[in-house]
Amino acid sequence: MELTTVIKRNEIYGRYLVAAKDLKPGELILKECPLQVGPQTQAMAMCFNCTLYMASERSCEVCGKALKCSVNCKGKLHTREECDTLSRMIIKSEDFLKAPQIILPLRCLLLKQYDAKKWAEFLELESHLKERKDSPIWFIHKEGVYDVLKKLNVDVDEELVQTICGILDVNSFEVRPLFAATTPQECLRGVYLKAALMAHDCTPNTHLSVDFTFEMTIRANRFIPAGETIFYNYANGLQGSAERRKHLHVGKYFDCTCKRCGDGTELQSFLSSLICTSCKSLISCAEPLKDIYSSDWICGKCSKTIKGNLVENTINHSKELINDYSNLQEAEGILEKLKVTLGPNHYIILELKQNMISLLGNYDGELEIKRKIALCEELISVLRLLDFGDISRHLGIALYELHKAKSQLVYEAYNCNLVDVCQYLEGLQEAQNILKESMKHLLYEPKCSPEGKLAQRAMNDLRVLRGTSSDLERILTLDCA
Ligand SMILES: [Zn+2]
Ligand SMILES: [Zn+2]
Ligand SMILES: [Zn+2]
Ligand SMILES: [Zn+2]
Repeated sequence: MELTTVIKRNEIYGRYLVAAKDLKPGELILKECPLQVGPQTQAMAMCFNCTLYMASERSCEVCGKALKCSVNCKGKLHTREECDTLSRMIIKSEDFLKAPQIILPLRCLLLKQYDAKKWAEFLELESHLKERKDSPIWFIHKEGVYDVLKKLNVDVDEELVQTICGILDVNSFEVRPLFAATTPQECLRGVYLKAALMAHDCTPNTHLSVDFTFEMTIRANRFIPAGETIFYNYANGLQGSAERRKHLHVGKYFDCTCKRCGDGTELQSFLSSLICTSCKSLISCAEPLKDIYSSDWICGKCSKTIKGNLVENTINHSKELINDYSNLQEAEGILEKLKVTLGPNHYIILELKQNMISLLGNYDGELEIKRKIALCEELISVLRLLDFGDISRHLGIALYELHKAKSQLVYEAYNCNLVDVCQYLEGLQEAQNILKESMKHLLYEPKCSPEGKLAQRAMNDLRVLRGTSSDLERILTLDCA
């Protein structure tokens, strides 16, 4: 295959990937199998072979050490090399059950014994050991990993354990277990040697997906000219700058200076903006690359300024509100309350609206469907401003929900004789166009993932919509004849 990326090195990123040729939207950049997969730091124990969550002891029939869900386990992650190496150790399978946080660091450490090349490549990843030394996370790993391994007679010094844990914290990707994750504790971490070299940008140029074998696929989510850096967003793109930047600063040891972080309005999306108490326009952070809540916030219209700490208080208060409802009516009440202080596109409002959209999916009354349509349209307009590229999971899902509500509405209207055949057909065609755009965004999702399943449902829905539309067209031609 033609080379898609080259590895470069500079002061800011260390090693990073650059496009070796022009890449079209959707074009494959990288496919990679994980070096290792394991539980998160505070997660539960799992089958070494298939990652199934395990609450009771059951071990590999060969080494007797690795946790394994059953003799018939279909996984492939517990390799023969790992099995051999583990079998020579004193560690017992119940030790993994008692301290699941040692599973992933130990799996990586075992590479030292059976795959020197991979081990060397792993150690080349950034660990930020200096910055982490004697910080709270250092002590968590000392107690949780190093002390435990020592007690189990694993031959390793503390600095190496901290290096491994640092590499894992900084470079690993959150991956979903084969069996749909229900709690954050069940989420896993995967190490991908090449994907870990992608630099960060809050407006990334890649789309990343992981299939049921944990194989990762990275594609261009827009046109990438040869020579451009390959970027992935390590933070949550639906969060405001303060949240994203904090996550990156604390967990990844850098301050992002991308175009979105450098712009108080976040690319005119006003995702973090509050309402100006004087003129009702929007206030945004004046110096977004500094500490967001200690710098001033300024109104874009009347130039009134307020202190960042006041903004922070408002945000904290709003965050407490958004989960405090048990039905749709209460959610609407909270939304109204939030709209008094937060800008209409604020990320906290966006989160509430997303939850309301899924809640509204359970209703089929006209009012509720219309409400769902309005919320979907508001959400989509903000998502478009955030520039997620031509392939965006967020947009794919929101557009799917919009098409569903639109086709439902016009179907009900036709059934109640509120619209004629012509209008019904028009409505269905509009829904089809929205659905086609949704499918374009979901095209590359692995079949086994929730988004992949949504893509298949979308395909079926399109078939049904097309069928109904051509039936209606036939009726119309007959009418004319
Ligand atoms: Zn298993
Ligand atoms: Zn084994
Ligand atoms: Zn950024
Ligand atoms: Zn103002």
